[in-house]
Amino acid sequence: MSDRELVEGLRRNGIVDTRVLEAMSGLRRADFVPESVRGSASLDAPLPIGEGQTISQPYIVAYMTQVLAPQPGERVLEIGTGSGYQAAVLARLGAEVFTVEVRPALARQARERLERLGLGTLHFRVGDGTLGWPEEAPFDAILGTAAPERLPPALYQQLRPGGRLLVPVGPQGGNQELIRVIRPPGDAAPQVEKLLAVRFVPMTVGAPAIQPH
Ligand code: SAH
Repeated sequence: MSDRELVEGLRRNGIVDTRVLEAMSGLRRADFVPESVRGSASLDAPLPIGEGQTISQPYIVAYMTQVLAPQPGERVLEIGTGSGYQAAVLARLGAEVFTVEVRPALARQARERLERLGLGTLHFRVGDGTLGWPEEAPFDAILGTAAPERLPPALYQQLRPGGRLLVPVGPQGGNQELIRVIRPPGDAAPQVEKLLAVRFVPMTVGAPAIQPH
């Protein structure tokens, strides 16, 4: 069974981009979560994926993807592979996806899962995503799925002129805001827009603290 009903709920909640809705209805969120929470996979709620991390709420995945509006063939960098679900949505939209995860075990599981599902063009990296992926820059679009306290400068620098960046910013467990940053051509100042109050797991700087399993 695919996530048709989940996606119907997103449509009712105001997600209008049919490409995004179609990309999500072709996936099974249950394939991306541990067996212990599989029964809740069709709920519009974040779920634990191990190591204290979560797969985002489907509405947030849909909203962020709709705002980012990745086009086929675009190079999109994601910070925070996690379960691989958001990366799968981007790949189904035809983007060439570069995804960075700081926790090796999560990165390995996501990579195996996405390769098994055969979803498109994805590149994986284990490391600190606040540094971006300099060897592959510039990117058409960058998406952060964990929240740094402040926007990491490397991410802005790795956007092509005209590129867009979407990231939740704010203190751990506190008031975070999803912001969109557009890098204008030339030396003009970045265009920054606040979109939505959100709550994401923190984007760590350097190696993450060890979490009990
Ligand atoms: N996009 C994911 C959401 C996962 S939660 C999904 O669809 O499931 C955010 C993820 O960001 C976690 O897996 C966490 O380990 C990772 N993360 C946190 N800080 C990071 C950093 N500095 N670099 C890369 N990944 C990071």
